[in-house]
Amino acid sequence: MSTQRSSATPVAENAFDIAQKQFDIAADLLHLDANLRDVLRNCKRELTVNFPVKMDDGSIRVFQGYRVHHNIARGPAKGGLRFHPAVTLDEVRALAMWMTWKCAVVGIPFGGAKGGVVCDPKKLSLTELENLTRRFATEISLLIGPDRDIPAPDVNTSPLVMSWIMDTYSMAVGHSVPAVVTGKPLSIGGSEGRLEATARGAVDVIIEAARDRQFPLDGARVILQGFGNAGAPLASFLSQLGCRVIGVSDSSGAIHNPHGIDCARLRLYQRETGTVAGFSMAEPVDPLGMLELPCDILVPAALEGQITHRNADRIKAKMIAEVANGPTTPEADVILGEKGVLVLPDILCNAGGVTVSYFEWVQDLQSFFWDEEEVNARLQRIMVRAYQNVARMAEQHNVNLRTAAHMLAISLVADATRTRGIFP
Ligand code: NAD
Repeated sequence: MSTQRSSATPVAENAFDIAQKQFDIAADLLHLDANLRDVLRNCKRELTVNFPVKMDDGSIRVFQGYRVHHNIARGPAKGGLRFHPAVTLDEVRALAMWMTWKCAVVGIPFGGAKGGVVCDPKKLSLTELENLTRRFATEISLLIGPDRDIPAPDVNTSPLVMSWIMDTYSMAVGHSVPAVVTGKPLSIGGSEGRLEATARGAVDVIIEAARDRQFPLDGARVILQGFGNAGAPLASFLSQLGCRVIGVSDSSGAIHNPHGIDCARLRLYQRETGTVAGFSMAEPVDPLGMLELPCDILVPAALEGQITHRNADRIKAKMIAEVANGPTTPEADVILGEKGVLVLPDILCNAGGVTVSYFEWVQDLQSFFWDEEEVNARLQRIMVRAYQNVARMAEQHNVNLRTAAHMLAISLVADATRTRGIFP
């Protein structure tokens, strides 16, 4: 629960333009019918809300929030909620579109959605955060529901935020509806394994890709941007695989130690201080410069637009595992491709989170809960199969993994849309 854009962060290009560019590349290769193309290239529903929140000092502040459905041809809308000062409608549109493709890549029966509130949660008290969350949940209750639209955590939102949404929705309908959100605490219907699911799924994909390319993971040097819900557990998992995490950053700073950083100690330090900056067993480095330091695997796990035409040619990693959504621009993709860098695209690499969210929803609907072993085993099966499907597509069409993942997803969503027909 800790995100601020640092002054070193590059100005992100418009995320929705990027999502549409990625779509166009894949749609061209698929020779997608022009009419279908228009349907899939745009978001189906967009709700903007301006809502008042009572602050601790008695004043009232109006916040702006969004909930966007990109496509629901394959099932209910699914996607996280982001609380961040830099949230925009275009960012939410892009994230919703990526959710549609992501759910299709891993073959789970959801459409794509996303939401966000323009706010800085670090500047809100717990009561103000709860007031904001409950009021926002009420405002978007026009859209959300266990069979319609199921939110989840994203940047700066947590299991606690999800429990407030679940409770607010349940109070309105008069009975408990755990399946209205995922990423909840276990005590109210959360799933075992959800907290680490994104990281675990990314590791499954990294292992498969490394095996395919004879890329040794033992001793591989890792640089990680972002040490939150997704990034922090990944650092531990990669260390357990024998990788050496040599650089880590968060919104307050970056640290580097070419001999390796003790990730367990770093997590303890970060829990105590709220940041990785100042960790004594590493040197401080420039956060943006850190991305360009020599390493084998670079993991963006923070925000969009971090690897662009401005820095791509200076990236030294051999593999980029995209845990963040949209960290690489299409121009950067071209540069990285020419340099022979393997990019594991976000809609594949970080799909473990939504996959276990799907498991949570299924468990809630059945009121029948699985143990962690079962969750992790099912997750691994799905991630490995998704990687193999994407890799096969890439080989067949001689394209990179991002374009292959988009082609796979777009053809599945197009097929569902075509099969259902255009109403009326
Ligand atoms: P989070 O809020 O828990 O953590 C974000 C981390 O990024 C924090 O450590 C923050 O300090 C850091 N950060 C922010 N700005 C930074 C900057 N400019 N430089 C370096 N670090 C910076 O969020 P999260 O849930 O871990 O999400 C991170 C990314 O992963 C997002 O793109 C999100 O959409 C994506 N993602 C998350 C999940 C999930 O299950 N949590 C699933 C799929 C994708």
